[in-house]
Amino acid sequence: MVVAIDGPVAAGKGTLARRLAARYGYAYLDTGSLYRAVGSKVLRQGGDPADEAVATQAAATLTESDLAAPDLRTEPVGLAASKVAAIPGVRAALLDYQRRYAVTPPGGQPGAVLDGRDIGTVVCPDAPVKLFVTARDEIRAQRRYKELLDRGETATFEQVLADLRRRDAQDQARATAPLKPAADAHLLDTSDLDIEAAVTAAVDIVNDILNRGSLSR
Ligand code: C5P
Repeated sequence: MVVAIDGPVAAGKGTLARRLAARYGYAYLDTGSLYRAVGSKVLRQGGDPADEAVATQAAATLTESDLAAPDLRTEPVGLAASKVAAIPGVRAALLDYQRRYAVTPPGGQPGAVLDGRDIGTVVCPDAPVKLFVTARDEIRAQRRYKELLDRGETATFEQVLADLRRRDAQDQARATAPLKPAADAHLLDTSDLDIEAAVTAAVDIVNDILNRGSLSR
């Protein structure tokens, strides 16, 4: 079983993915962290995240310790991730790992939840469950702003909103695997939902699909 969750910055994908994985006993892969690790590695090397050769080399040689970089969740690394993510060689280097994870979760779980931007369209186009999670820009920026302040980072709401719009625009405009809902994705707008209500809505969608599967067996 594969649950593919896509959507723009700070739409609530990660929280939903973690909660669904815990509920169904599935593995969870935050695919954004792979792109963040590449972005962070390039910045650490003093390189330009938009440099195709440098970024592709960083992706091809990614290690567990790159995935544990302490700056992974910061805003500059998020923007660098969005730049490296537009490079086809970087995406190609990360594709196999994501597909293998979906098909054979590392802990032997019966399913996997993957979240990102192209899971339902490119990584797992045959996933039985696809969710595209969105929320209004200002609401997503407010959530991300609070997250940054809670982590002790300094930021202004306006800057967070501008960064979020820039990153979404980059992710939607790129030629390779742009951010967009798969044709068969269920749209879930979390603007007016708290976490519990969003989880309930997602669980209803997953259960519906699981039940349909068991009836046709
Ligand atoms: O989800 P997160 O904000 O951590 O992702 C960081 C960046 O990685 C995104 O802005 C996007 O450019 C890129 N990404 C991607 N495809 C994915 C996951 C993330 O292009 N499946």
